[in-house]
Amino acid sequence: MHPEVKTPIMQTMPSREPIMPDTLAQRTVLIVDDQPDSIQVLARLIKDDYRVRVATGGEKALEIAAGEDPPDLILLDVEMPGIDGYEVCRRLKFHPRTVGIPVLFITARNDPEDEERGLTLGAVDYISKPFRPAVVRARVRNHMRLKVKSDLLEQYSMRDSLTNVANRRLFDARLAEAWARALREGHDLTLILMDIDHFKQYNDHYGHGAGDDCLCRVARALHTPLQRPGDLLARYGGEEFIALLPETDAPGGAEGGGAPAPGGGDPADPPCHLRSRPCHPQPGLRNPGIRPAPGRNADPG
Ligand SMILES: [Mg+2]
Repeated sequence: MHPEVKTPIMQTMPSREPIMPDTLAQRTVLIVDDQPDSIQVLARLIKDDYRVRVATGGEKALEIAAGEDPPDLILLDVEMPGIDGYEVCRRLKFHPRTVGIPVLFITARNDPEDEERGLTLGAVDYISKPFRPAVVRARVRNHMRLKVKSDLLEQYSMRDSLTNVANRRLFDARLAEAWARALREGHDLTLILMDIDHFKQYNDHYGHGAGDDCLCRVARALHTPLQRPGDLLARYGGEEFIALLPETDAPGGAEGGGAPAPGGGDPADPPCHLRSRPCHPQPGLRNPGIRPAPGRNADPG
């Protein structure tokens, strides 16, 4: 087991986005080789440090890499029947879903031209046989650590650092995707824009620490009802949150979206009382059940 970066975002993120494992032992290496003996040798080397999956051909490797549980790193043979390792690497680096998976070639081909070709195709390393086991283990570990950091950076760039829900950047990207899909398929989509009334007075009265705590509680409460994988809650501005509910019409947005009823409920149960006046988040419904149309833009404002 190797100590790795542990961050609060891993512990508390309320999102239903896939959460990256934060230890190397939870990470997955895909070994791709047409020779079962070679697979066994490599698997024995790394099986105590990572989850190991195997593929004996290029097609299967591409299928696994683009699947629901993609590997974090790929050890790739070059010479295989069907699609060879170079072509597998080229396709992996071409596809947005798999471009971020580091590829290490491990091959008996040890001409400098072969190595140059592999690295030019986007592989992070090229290991020639015969290899020293300790060197292979060390190289895999080094590249895996970089992958962990790269995943963390990507998560940070998409998350609101206070509440851990999606940030505006991720929301904008998801809205553009959902909008385009709704246009193509003729669906409605629902946006629910919510803000917290009297939040400035709340901050002024209780202090910014309590205000931050209130925002986190509100974010958790608003996120809880969003059950479908495509639903997204984002922090839209200071005390504004927005929910994106793809393929949902207006009634569905008001009910299925699970937003707290306007003026009612106690969505966050925050200590939101200002001079004995309740200060519950008031969800303001705007643009529920939008039917995207050509020429209409996706600005929720
Ligand atoms: Mg081979």
